[in-house]
Amino acid sequence: MRQMQGAAKKASVDAIYRQGRPDVLRLGTASRGEKGGSSPSRGRGVSIVEVDINWFSCPICFRLLSPPVFQCKRGHLACGGCRAGNCRKCKGGGKRFLARNMVVEDIISVSKFKCPHIGCHEFFSYPDLLAHRDGCHLAPCFCAEPGCNFEAPPPRLFIHLDVEHSWPAYRFTYGKDNWITWPLSKQRRLLLAVEDDCVFVLVVGALGAVTAVSVVCVRKVGGSSQPRYTAVLGASGPPLPGGAAGRTITSPMETVTSSDRPGEVAVDKLPCVLAVPSTYLMAGVDGASKEVSLMIQIKKIP
Ligand SMILES: [Zn+2]
Ligand SMILES: [Zn+2]
Ligand SMILES: [Zn+2]
Ligand SMILES: [Zn+2]
Repeated sequence: MRQMQGAAKKASVDAIYRQGRPDVLRLGTASRGEKGGSSPSRGRGVSIVEVDINWFSCPICFRLLSPPVFQCKRGHLACGGCRAGNCRKCKGGGKRFLARNMVVEDIISVSKFKCPHIGCHEFFSYPDLLAHRDGCHLAPCFCAEPGCNFEAPPPRLFIHLDVEHSWPAYRFTYGKDNWITWPLSKQRRLLLAVEDDCVFVLVVGALGAVTAVSVVCVRKVGGSSQPRYTAVLGASGPPLPGGAAGRTITSPMETVTSSDRPGEVAVDKLPCVLAVPSTYLMAGVDGASKEVSLMIQIKKIP
């Protein structure tokens, strides 16, 4: 496993933020047979118009308008769930949302909406957007280190934790054995998947008499469209007398759990860990602290 260096790491992660603009709604009919989740192409003979999605947000609940859509006497819009209140845009108040606005409902029903998460450039029909949004791999997560309120999509949070909190950071490839020599003075390490910029946290800590190790995926918890991850954790003991390689223990993880707060991930709260006996710990390079030789393999199951 390769430890990442500053500029290369930032360029790699920033690449996903370069395309598209935020908060855009595309109007117009997409090509026949197009499914939600892909960028809409120009339909046959129909122009695509891009507008600010805020034009279609409800001024009362601030969510995207969804049919049925109502309007007050002066034409201000509100979603069905908010129609009982008075219009806040009308000076003097008192204007109720009494009429349906079928044109806006039609526009919404044929439109593609951009995922609201920074860095995600996918467009969806409104029902598909609701299904995608919570499971989006770029939904913001929280640093949660003591005193820090930083939040960002996982690849940005990865940089933040490395740069601001000095978490050691590595790149890895799904399905391969990755070995790390880990000084136990550092509790957590960051892993960034080469293939898709998904972020994981390796965590180590004392669990009774043993040293326990586990891994967690950094992403918003929930969402039916999220991939599942499995992992195998291993540790190698010191060389045996005579120079033979040390013994290795491994532990499979059927499901890697998720957390959107990596700064709070602690090994004693995780359901599945690799227990490393004290005989597997070796003296660190400074002679004072211990270190352990660890193997991690993560698989992605779409
Ligand atoms: Zn509303
Ligand atoms: Zn009004
Ligand atoms: Zn998304
Ligand atoms: Zn922070």
